[in-house]
Amino acid sequence: MSSIAYRGRFAPSPTGPLHFGSLVAAMGSWLDARAKNGAWLLRIEDLDQPREEPGAVASIRATLEACALEWDGEIAVQSGRNEWYAAALQRLKDAGAVFPCACSRREIADSSTPGLRQGKEAVYPGTCRHGLPAGRSVRAWRVRVEEAVIEMDDAVQGRLRQQLATEVGDFVVLRADGCFAYQLAVVADDAAQGITHVVRGADLIDSTPRQVHLQRLLGYATPRYAHLPVALNAAGEKLSKQTLATPLDPRRCASAMVSALEFLGQAPPTMLSRAAPREILDWGRAHWSLPRVPRVRARPVPGSAV
Ligand code: GLU
Repeated sequence: MSSIAYRGRFAPSPTGPLHFGSLVAAMGSWLDARAKNGAWLLRIEDLDQPREEPGAVASIRATLEACALEWDGEIAVQSGRNEWYAAALQRLKDAGAVFPCACSRREIADSSTPGLRQGKEAVYPGTCRHGLPAGRSVRAWRVRVEEAVIEMDDAVQGRLRQQLATEVGDFVVLRADGCFAYQLAVVADDAAQGITHVVRGADLIDSTPRQVHLQRLLGYATPRYAHLPVALNAAGEKLSKQTLATPLDPRRCASAMVSALEFLGQAPPTMLSRAAPREILDWGRAHWSLPRVPRVRARPVPGSAV
């Protein structure tokens, strides 16, 4: 029985098969939901169609099924939900919270104050905030961040604070290629699906204040967030398609599942390595403890799991 008090989700992008890093996010969110008798929903985040790999959705499904990670209800697919995102954008337009922007990535990188840059993405310098410069046409739509300072408690990583104006700048909600941006889609979908708890990789933690800002503008509730450590390969890189992470073999997922429990600080007993996926999940659910998840943004994969 699922309680409606907790609704969690796993939201993979179908850019390739699941690997150990995605298994950690899938299991962490499943275990946290099921330990609290919650629902766990599956959403395919395929808005970025050029990055989609044919066959990835079927492969993700097959791997989740092989791992006995059962989801509730229908799978939500972002590419069929453009009207919902368009309605959210319209509400932001009606509220005067967004503006059209003509700037290219290059122009932003060139004109952004170097001292204000965070990571790779340049902080938007505000060029089109008060209107498009003469002769320029709309490329993207951006949301105004104004003076927003987002403070929040992450259930794993602790207190977070981000001043959007200096750390991110007005950010894109409708991209120059006509696709809705991840930040808008994820917020609109979490609200539509009634998600109360988001458990996902810490690679998304810096996006969370942007999502909270949009939730406030759109009048959506803010879920509880828990950001799990990201899995690193031997070279210290995040496991991903780009770093050539080994796909999980659905016929042999039990050992990876035990390694994922270990990675999440749950100290599975040695004898669990001979168990079937369902028993591994039963053990994990009965012993699940979010406070035991290491409070770090990234950590190496246990040797046996890559
Ligand atoms: N689709 C994103 C990814 O695969 C996850 C988004 C989320 O959990 O909010 O990295």
